[in-house]
Amino acid sequence: MRYTLTLQEHHLTELKQLVLKPDGYERPAILMCGFSEASNDIWDGGSEMRFLSKEIIPIPDNQINSHTSAMVNWDTAIFRKAMKRAKENNLRICLVHSHPEGHEQFSEIDDKHEKELFEMIYSRNGGILPNLSLIITCSGVLTARACTSNLVYHQIDFIRVMGSRYNFYYKGKYTVIAKEEFSRQQLAFGPSLNADLSKLRIAVVGNGATGSATAHLLARLGVGQILLVDKDLVERSNLSRLHGATSSDADLGKSKAAVLAKFLANIGIGCRIRKIEEWVVNAQVRDALKTCDIIFSCTDDNSGRILMNRFAHFFLVPVIDMGIVIDPAKDRKEQLETLQGRVTIVQPGNTCLLCRNIVNRQLAREEDLKRNDPVGYLRQKEEAYVIGENNPSPAVITFTSEVATMAVNELINRLTGFKTNGVEKHIIRFFDKGIDRRPHISPDEDCPICGSDEYWGRGDMTPFLDQIN
Ligand SMILES: [Zn+2]
Ligand SMILES: [Zn+2]
Repeated sequence: MRYTLTLQEHHLTELKQLVLKPDGYERPAILMCGFSEASNDIWDGGSEMRFLSKEIIPIPDNQINSHTSAMVNWDTAIFRKAMKRAKENNLRICLVHSHPEGHEQFSEIDDKHEKELFEMIYSRNGGILPNLSLIITCSGVLTARACTSNLVYHQIDFIRVMGSRYNFYYKGKYTVIAKEEFSRQQLAFGPSLNADLSKLRIAVVGNGATGSATAHLLARLGVGQILLVDKDLVERSNLSRLHGATSSDADLGKSKAAVLAKFLANIGIGCRIRKIEEWVVNAQVRDALKTCDIIFSCTDDNSGRILMNRFAHFFLVPVIDMGIVIDPAKDRKEQLETLQGRVTIVQPGNTCLLCRNIVNRQLAREEDLKRNDPVGYLRQKEEAYVIGENNPSPAVITFTSEVATMAVNELINRLTGFKTNGVEKHIIRFFDKGIDRRPHISPDEDCPICGSDEYWGRGDMTPFLDQIN
């Protein structure tokens, strides 16, 4: 069992303000967490229990009985309130406290004191899922552990902090393992980027023009684990822009995911590749995405993108969505009407794909119908009840690959902060005009996904993603 924790960046900022004060005394706080469970995971057949920060319950100073720089003793009235909330909403409790003196490990006093509190949770709320605790040191080091219902502690060995920047905490982060393959990029960004990339598990959903370019870039950057998801087959008309595909792949009707997986594996720089030849709405894909840290969405599947839009918020897994629009001019006087590439970062705090009108709900319903009831779909199509797919849209490899580069560069930006103007939430490149635009659109107040934080960090629930169907 692998235990991991994902913190929303603004939660960590607030926790630091609550527990690290200038007087240097230890302070506590409670963090309520959603969770996601994955068994038989696609990477090594193991299991992962992932905790997701959901909301903070502060413990004000008047609830602290006594504290010094090395201990804190607090009234448990707020703790009882947290237990009630955890039971009612199926959340886990994370006990947070500071170590102002900088000790990065739990003390013997912590072991004993927290065990009493965890025992209270299990005897009051029942259940067998673990709860957890977190230390924040004065220098910002995070150490966390899970406590199972038999009151045994387990180290949480991977902590993600996701927000405007992506930060990861794990053992060996600062142990430099110089690999010759990545030495030139280490000269640019130092060793920690390479270390982070080697740890990451990244899904590339859609393995066509933008997806094959994205996966290719990720593999050569040194991403340690890449999951490829696509059910489509290679066709001759794809060969002008699919990275890694050959004419024999098209003649044999191989799947895009299989062809790309083989191409990436043959590079031979230690990337672990997994593939699922299915649509993203397939249950096997959903389970695999729960074990990823970041998703690149390179599909024009509306239904799949609506799912990923929700998924990013429920599971705190950022979705870097990209698209391209090429419209020939109708009057043919000019060569092109539109020539644009787009990258949108979907995660809590940003305006979602629905509020940006990037996905089409009607097309999504039709795609679902076509997959689930092909006969009914054809009947509705004959009766002109469905819009139906568009004719093949124009595509050119230089533009699809550039959009992929923009998207992967935004990942590097969020890991290193190399862009002096900050991070991108939504960027449109007008290839024809030579400019980038960043249109601001506020979340729709009624949007259940991005207009409220109710679902952010909710994780597993029934029905999945709180979808009725
Ligand atoms: Zn302590
Ligand atoms: Zn929204």
